Amino acid sequence: MRGAAHLASSLGDASLRMTPWQSLLLPNLAATDAELALAGLAALGLLCDPAQPLARMVACTGSAGCAKALADTKADAVQLAALLREPGPVAGIHLSGCARSCALAHRAPATLLAVGPGHYDLYFHDPAQPGLGAPGGRNLTLKEAGAQLDARLRSNPDD
Ligand code: SF4
Repeated sequence: MRGAAHLASSLGDASLRMTPWQSLLLPNLAATDAELALAGLAALGLLCDPAQPLARMVACTGSAGCAKALADTKADAVQLAALLREPGPVAGIHLSGCARSCALAHRAPATLLAVGPGHYDLYFHDPAQPGLGAPGGRNLTLKEAGAQLDARLRSNPDD
């Protein structure tokens, strides 16, 4: 964060904004400095390419910091990102440690709801269905969930 703050003050107006999608914005940069800012953020270890699978995931605190969580959602998101092969939409996958869904106020295109350590029920958003959407699998391992997500994104590239 200190590195991002330094970039914001050296290239912009020293503003940093956090988004509801667990992203960071550096506003008010000159367009000509955008590449420099992206390179600086990437050097800090931040994801700057929306095609990176982890850049399209959000996860709640999970069992690392929440007693209600049934899984370590943040660590599982990193593992799941490494398993995915198909590029997809930004913020398209939401991992939630329980039904409270703290990490995302709206419905993601795909939701993984923890049912136990490393295991999730998968839902695909469907406005015609209540709750998280249409079931895509029950009690899936991360590998099984990744295969389902890849298959879905291949058959519905606009999801
Ligand atoms: S969604 Fe559930 S598990 Fe995740 S932070 Fe909120 S209360 Fe905890």
